[in-house]
Amino acid sequence: MADLEDLYQEVILDHNKSPRNFRAMGNSSHKAEGYNPLCGDQVTVYVRLRDGLIEDISFQGSGCAISKASASMMTAELKGKQESAAAELFDKVHRMLTGDCVDGVQSLGKLAVLSGVCKFPARVKCASLAWHTLNAALKGGADVASTE
Ligand code: ZN
Repeated sequence: MADLEDLYQEVILDHNKSPRNFRAMGNSSHKAEGYNPLCGDQVTVYVRLRDGLIEDISFQGSGCAISKASASMMTAELKGKQESAAAELFDKVHRMLTGDCVDGVQSLGKLAVLSGVCKFPARVKCASLAWHTLNAALKGGADVASTE
């Protein structure tokens, strides 16, 4: 597990330094804003769906390294995937972050590095913010997503 810890650090730092898909999207079909009052993380998630396929996904915002890395990894993972895959992944990530720290980690591939956050309960909301926001965007609600 020591290796996972190193990997965790490395991946988080890398995504924080050069976040993937970090841009506003002018022609998005879905969009939502998220806010984590505990840490001050803010994120806007943009999605362009076509026939159930996530053609493009991006985010913008400001926040701590974990919130940014999590959003970055999320977009990298879901670009080109089916909308149903996003819902499935949201479920898995949510369970990993809020439940048993090792539950289902193997099936999450690269996202498994986020399981390291489990040990820091205060950071769980940072890691889950982008996911909640994506969920809100796909559901089409105009409300600001919150981790509360
Ligand atoms: Zn944060």
